[in-house]
Amino acid sequence: MSEKLFKKVSLIGLGLIGSSLGLVMHQRGLVGHISGFARSKATRDKAMEIGFIDSVCETAAESVKDADLVIVCAPVGVMGDIAREIAPELKPGAIITDVGSVKSAIIEAMAPHLPDNVHFIPGHPIAGSEKSGPESGYAELFINRWTILTPPDGSDSVQVERLEQFWQACGANVEIMDVEHHDMVLGITSHLPHLIAYSIVSTASDLEAVTRSEVIKFSAGGFRDFTRIAASDPTMWRDVFLNNREAVLDLLGRFTEDLAALQRAIRWKDGDALFDLFTKSRDIRSGIIEAGQDTAAPDFGRAHIEVDE
Ligand code: NAP
Repeated sequence: MSEKLFKKVSLIGLGLIGSSLGLVMHQRGLVGHISGFARSKATRDKAMEIGFIDSVCETAAESVKDADLVIVCAPVGVMGDIAREIAPELKPGAIITDVGSVKSAIIEAMAPHLPDNVHFIPGHPIAGSEKSGPESGYAELFINRWTILTPPDGSDSVQVERLEQFWQACGANVEIMDVEHHDMVLGITSHLPHLIAYSIVSTASDLEAVTRSEVIKFSAGGFRDFTRIAASDPTMWRDVFLNNREAVLDLLGRFTEDLAALQRAIRWKDGDALFDLFTKSRDIRSGIIEAGQDTAAPDFGRAHIEVDE
């Protein structure tokens, strides 16, 4: 791209999301310069070695100096501290955004620290995986995935549009959403499934009558699909649940009621109720495939290669 979208971008947090952003910005020539900061020296060194940032800084504050766009890609629980630290060094007129998986709590934590002369436009790419760290990123992560922006009331529409263009240039589709609505939608599409996966995997590993080796050996019956989700980063997910408590607790209440209804249908041998519910669930799966958000290939397109026992 000849016309750069931003002269200087600062990435705070250089894990899966930060590295993927660095890689796509470089690959597509979107910005002039990318400076980066992460908590540990090991990650900072790895980021320079891989080359998805152009310069590395010893502090977050140093990294944001002169940046036109600051993207905070750190765990949800540290966003407030980062905002406090970078605030004095932010360039007037800069856009400050984040990629955190919850929005209300992050806005509450960050907004009070930020000066009035910058544009704070929170965001969340609905793209990721169970992998973390600077080596797990890839430039294609955001292609055809949604990024949700939750600009506060009164945001400058030109700046919101600039950020929208940035995400589109990274390959994403963009949707603008109200903050509470975001936390509810993501509660059901992401947070609750993770909670359920963590819970099932823990139940299975605690079952004394089924040995660990059997749980692993027969996992292709369905269990292994939960283990992918339950292998996600513990820090990230602890922070998500502590920071989207209300929406998750509300959805969990509904979920347990629905689970009790299923339990009842099984107890009373109500095959029709089970059949109807399972049929509805299939429709949702078809909708996801039609929307281009997953492959139609059986078993998620897994290669059926021979695996040594
Ligand atoms: P990650 O791979 O674990 O990377 C987190 C990065 O943040 C690491 O570079 C870490 O540095 C850095 N960090 C931690 N504490 C910090 C601090 N106090 N100051 C500066 N940097 C700090 O995590 P991720 O998957 O990229 O997630 C980052 C954010 O994206 C989270 O808010 C998450 O909710 C959101 N998100 C994740 C996904 C997903 O699927 N993973 C999807 C969408 C959004 P060290 O390496 O030195 O510890």
